[in-house]
Amino acid sequence: KLSKRLTQVGDFVPQDAVLLDVGSDHAYLPIHLVKTKRISKAIAGEVVKGPYESAVANVKSASLEEQITVRLANGLAAFDPAVDDVTTITIAGMGGHLIAEILEDGRDKLCQVSTLILQPNNGERHLRQWLQAHDFTISDEKILAENDKIYEIIVAHPGKSADKLTEAELCFGPFLLQEKSAVFLEKWASELTANQSIMAKIPDSAEQKKAEFSAKIAKIKEVLNVSQ
Ligand code: SAM
Repeated sequence: KLSKRLTQVGDFVPQDAVLLDVGSDHAYLPIHLVKTKRISKAIAGEVVKGPYESAVANVKSASLEEQITVRLANGLAAFDPAVDDVTTITIAGMGGHLIAEILEDGRDKLCQVSTLILQPNNGERHLRQWLQAHDFTISDEKILAENDKIYEIIVAHPGKSADKLTEAELCFGPFLLQEKSAVFLEKWASELTANQSIMAKIPDSAEQKKAEFSAKIAKIKEVLNVSQ
């Protein structure tokens, strides 16, 4: 059974999209989407040989070789915009910095792509900033808990948004901040505790570091409505 995390990523894929799943590993996501008839065409890209081979084997045993092409490739090198009419890209289960790097390296290929669905394991602020700097608008977000971990999903489309994201929106997510779900509050309560325990260990002499963490803590407290 597909994880709740990847199911949610798949739920954002538009009906009949042509999908590129970067870092597909076992190709679980494209297999699920083709089987459930959400899509009929996908590329599963993988840069590491072992996972690539496991994707090839899984696609073969599901008899989906016609629909899903597995390619051994780095990031967006897995598709050729002149030939592959990719409309949607998913990149899940990696750090936000790596996701931004993959997008940056393949920037000139993104013009034909209408939807990005990204699931960074960390570095969400950096990724939102990359999207904003490259004129992508965040159109939806999701936060969920699975196996004692909390995951965020960011959906973006090309096009400059009317308003720039505020510092709080960059850090917490414009939609997640609005919604303030129970999982969101849980995530930031635990981030608060973690930052406070780091803060307690910073010597008074490291003034700049202390100021940095105290600003971070204040920012989280504000969102959680904790009195200072
Ligand atoms: N996307 C799947 C998921 O969310 O469950 C797999 C996540 S797995 C932790 C990350 C995968 O991305 C690994 O299989 C890794 O080899 C692959 N990967 C890392 N960097 C990549 C890159 N630049 N291009 C393609 N694949 C990459």
